[in-house]
Amino acid sequence: MPDIAFVNGHFLPWNEATISIDDRGFQFGDGIYEVIRTYRGIPFEVKAHLNRLDRSAKELQLAQPYSHVQWAEWIQQGLERGCYQNAKIYIQVTRGVALRDHAFPEDAGPTVVMTIRELHPLSLQTRQDGVSAATCEDLRWGRCDIKSVNLLGNVLAREGAKKAGVFEAILVRDGLVTEGSLSNVLAVQSGAVVTAPEGPRILSGVTRTVVLGLAKKEGIPVYERFMSVDSLYTADEVFLTGTTLEVLGVVQVDGKTIGSGRPGPITRTLASRWTLLTG
Ligand code: PLP
Repeated sequence: MPDIAFVNGHFLPWNEATISIDDRGFQFGDGIYEVIRTYRGIPFEVKAHLNRLDRSAKELQLAQPYSHVQWAEWIQQGLERGCYQNAKIYIQVTRGVALRDHAFPEDAGPTVVMTIRELHPLSLQTRQDGVSAATCEDLRWGRCDIKSVNLLGNVLAREGAKKAGVFEAILVRDGLVTEGSLSNVLAVQSGAVVTAPEGPRILSGVTRTVVLGLAKKEGIPVYERFMSVDSLYTADEVFLTGTTLEVLGVVQVDGKTIGSGRPGPITRTLASRWTLLTG
């Protein structure tokens, strides 16, 4: 089954989809995106993702072309064409095609792209063993709460992680942990889950929100506050959350072993609650 693309209201095979070189997404990174995944063919937390898409659009004064009902319809049609059990739905909305000028164009309509591709989950072994991470300077702009396609800071951090042979880059601004290059970072300290607060320094992850809710349900205290890098090193547990990562234990940061060197009990509890929730 080929991967599916959708461009401005039309479905077509992924390898036939094109957009203009004058698109502002290409020229300026002037656009927003969302990644939604399915479990057994059913998209997970669509409303939360579409709410975040709306919010990103509003913050950038970008026209959101479709209502939630219309988006849900396009997503459903795409999934029926793709037929994947586990699919990754990537939505991108840019400020459209216009002659190159930094200021907003007067008459351009948004460009809307969606792709539906098979999701290859992480191996069970990786989940059981946990992953390693390395910290790096958070070079991103001042509005990391907007899910913008402008991802250079994340790209450079991720490349650094790859070169260092670790799974994820943990971003640090002014000595404080913000988030991962494509994940939120959470730690367990004295039995409580601690993670950076929502605000301009992090993307408010859909998975983060659900996992914090699961923790509260389990009676685990949750504190949304910034952590220093040292307090991350000495945390009992560290884990990442994200749409494709789900709940993933981190067992080493900058070569320092976290806790016992295995995903800890609270990480494992939350990962198993996640599995129960998503089937
Ligand atoms: N933080 C960043 C920078 C991300 O890119 C992502 C996911 O792409 C996340 C956090 C996790 O967000 P979500 O749980 O909504 O996938």
